[in-house]
Amino acid sequence: MRRFLIRAFFASLIIGAVCLVFRQGLLPAHLTPLPRLDLENPLPLVVDWQVAELRFDRRLCRETITQSGLIKARQIPDKVRRNGCGWTNAVKMSEAGGASIGVNRVSCQAAAAVALWMQYVVQPAAQRIFGKRVVSVANYGTYSCRNIVGNSFWQDRRSEHASANAIDISSFRIEGGNTVSVLKHWRTKGKKAEFLRAVHSGACSYFRVALSPDFNAAHKDHFHFDRGILWTCK
Ligand SMILES: [Zn+2]
Repeated sequence: MRRFLIRAFFASLIIGAVCLVFRQGLLPAHLTPLPRLDLENPLPLVVDWQVAELRFDRRLCRETITQSGLIKARQIPDKVRRNGCGWTNAVKMSEAGGASIGVNRVSCQAAAAVALWMQYVVQPAAQRIFGKRVVSVANYGTYSCRNIVGNSFWQDRRSEHASANAIDISSFRIEGGNTVSVLKHWRTKGKKAEFLRAVHSGACSYFRVALSPDFNAAHKDHFHFDRGILWTCK
């Protein structure tokens, strides 16, 4: 019995380490058995690991974003990290999931997550609820050299914004001119609130952290999405 427990302990350690390596994108994609991320055909069970493989791999990033019509983006040079700030393998993005969304620098993996979210969550929700597509998405930015704000427990930790691995979404413009705003409509009732709830909960499939106004007052006017190590969907 004791030997079995020791074996089980070491087996779980090894499995945990392997999961962590995949989760953090630490192995180059050509060394893993995972099918490479195809934005047009993501594999639901492993899509989080597929997206993570874009973290350091510039070549995989270039192939992924140039071979898909779901994203318009181009790679930008790395910015050397100082004091926990800077970015590695980032892109400038202008369009995702058929809607305009402009950011000057966002990590490749976060850009891919935005494209997946737009295509498989936002556009289907807009079609279902409004019978129309989203044409543009407004954001409050991606990169900011700062610590986490609005959370006393994590206040000394760098935000994922400090590595351009996060995006703050503020509103959506629907075909025909209607705007859906996180600040104005999150706490209302009706179609716009239903849309916001749907796109927030759906973001949890592609981002590790998806925070809404329900998380704390610092997020009253935007959704915060990131691809960091934590896992929160609220
Ligand atoms: Zn944020």
